[in-house]
Amino acid sequence: MLPARDRVAGLPELKGLTVAQLEQVFLDLGQKKYRAQQVYDALYVHRIPDVHGMTTLPADLRALLHERFRTSSVELESLQHSEDGTKKFLFALHDGRVIESVLIPSEMVEADGKPRRRTLCISTQVGCNLGCTFCATATMKLARNLSAGEIIDQFLQAQLHSEQPITNVVFMGMGEPMNNYDNVMQATSILNDQRTLMVAPRRTTLSTAGVLPGIVRMADEGRIIKLALSLHATTQETRVKLMPIAKKWPLDQVLETLDYYYKKTRKSVTYEYIVFKGLNDTLDDARRLGRMARRLPTKVNLIPFHEIDFTHPTGFSAELKPASPERFQWFIDRLREEDVRVLVRSSSGLDIDAACGQLALSAS
Ligand code: SAH
Repeated sequence: MLPARDRVAGLPELKGLTVAQLEQVFLDLGQKKYRAQQVYDALYVHRIPDVHGMTTLPADLRALLHERFRTSSVELESLQHSEDGTKKFLFALHDGRVIESVLIPSEMVEADGKPRRRTLCISTQVGCNLGCTFCATATMKLARNLSAGEIIDQFLQAQLHSEQPITNVVFMGMGEPMNNYDNVMQATSILNDQRTLMVAPRRTTLSTAGVLPGIVRMADEGRIIKLALSLHATTQETRVKLMPIAKKWPLDQVLETLDYYYKKTRKSVTYEYIVFKGLNDTLDDARRLGRMARRLPTKVNLIPFHEIDFTHPTGFSAELKPASPERFQWFIDRLREEDVRVLVRSSSGLDIDAACGQLALSAS
């Protein structure tokens, strides 16, 4: 007989399926269709981690599901706690690969001292093939896409380790969500389903390095989750050095696509912008960024560069340095003069390599 873990690894996932897909599963098993809604509710409304706990189902059906399906899509391997309250989860997948998710409490607190928001940063791929020169995940290359079940299970498992409900989700962990569009959107449809009360669409953000067909698709499909774009430079010349994907989809096309997105959806867009010392932090950059920001309703999320020395960068990557705190503040002031709405991304989890762009598995 196979050891328990290997037996389970070969089975299809129960998580990540829509009600319609679950109905098909039950019909194929020769069962009644209405069981689909019961299982869906057990997984996402009551969040029962194991089929044995799904007492709305008869015992023989629970046994059948246990035999035929995997209820968990990701398994917690380790949990690291940062001094600032951030938690980094290392999850094992059925094929032995691992991914990370990060739970970040907001700095703002309610009257009772509890953080106002708890944001879960979710991975969408194992590794990434975009090769951004400043990002640790790029050093892993791409192993594969995550399934919808693996995406949604990061939320369910992380919630078990948070006393308060997770309030926001950002697809800003490992991977490029637009390159795994269907699975990300399927997981999102369950996350955002009013019935599951997991997280509201307006508190769900997808961040892309600029995979333009994905942005067009979101606009055409009328997706109401938020869109963030990793801009990081105000000229094509600099952007292409930082992000090789800019060769395929240059900056002027990025801006035109965002215009299209706004025209179709009337939704604002967030630009993410890492401030690098001497590279994209000049007065001209602030002015150009101002012009880009005023094209449509936007926010600019400035991110301090989190050094990725632990990946032993070489060449251009090794030369990248964060702007000093004074320069960072100077850049904020210049942008505010340009009437830009500026927010600063906190560097939560820096002490446990859980901050933006630091997700890479030293073990792999
Ligand atoms: N692939 C998507 C989402 C993952 S990254 C994207 O590119 O948008 C989430 C954010 O962290 C992106 O804005 C990314 O550019 C940024 N980031 C990556 N490496 C970083 C680093 N070393 N320091 C700060 N931010 C980083």
